[in-house]
Amino acid sequence: MNENGISEPPSDPAEAFSRALARLPGGAGAEKCFSCATCSAGCPVRKVFPDYDPRRILRMILLGRGEELLASPLPWLCSTCYACQERCPQGIPVTDLLVALRNLASRTGHKPAALQMQEDLLVKFGRLYEIDEFDNKKREKAGLPKVVMKAEAVARLHALVAAEPFPPRGTPEAETHPSGSRP
Ligand code: SF4
Ligand code: SF4
Repeated sequence: MNENGISEPPSDPAEAFSRALARLPGGAGAEKCFSCATCSAGCPVRKVFPDYDPRRILRMILLGRGEELLASPLPWLCSTCYACQERCPQGIPVTDLLVALRNLASRTGHKPAALQMQEDLLVKFGRLYEIDEFDNKKREKAGLPKVVMKAEAVARLHALVAAEPFPPRGTPEAETHPSGSRP
């Protein structure tokens, strides 16, 4: 804060990263980690990919290696099972932190190409898979109703959010947003 009481942007990139992360829902609390590795011990993804380690991700955040973390596949490997969050003795929302990391990665141009493709499909069709005539014939044979690819509701929602982005959760503006309040 300067002599006029105005907060100045941090000059340290590590601090800037921590602040950007902490502003996102679930993005605060990494500084409470005392590196006990309880999260790593129970992580099912770590059992399959030994290089994946939630404790290591927390250390990278604290050591100011945010850019390296965002550019890596690590935030995207979590299965969001919440085992680490349930067990952390420090009460750190580890899973929520990982989700916040993904959101920050998306906002800073680090979204994996496969996920971007899924997002594009969702916006275009309202589902992750385009149902064509071939699929509908198979459905018909199975006695299932035809699926009509319509994404007007999704397009309307996107237009609404683009015109008036969601305010932060918990603010009065969020409650009165025209898209309806979030859960
Ligand atoms: S369980 Fe909590 S305190 Fe222990 S290493 Fe993981 S995040 Fe840090
Ligand atoms: S939420 Fe993610 S990091 Fe935590 S235990 Fe599950 S897979 Fe591992």
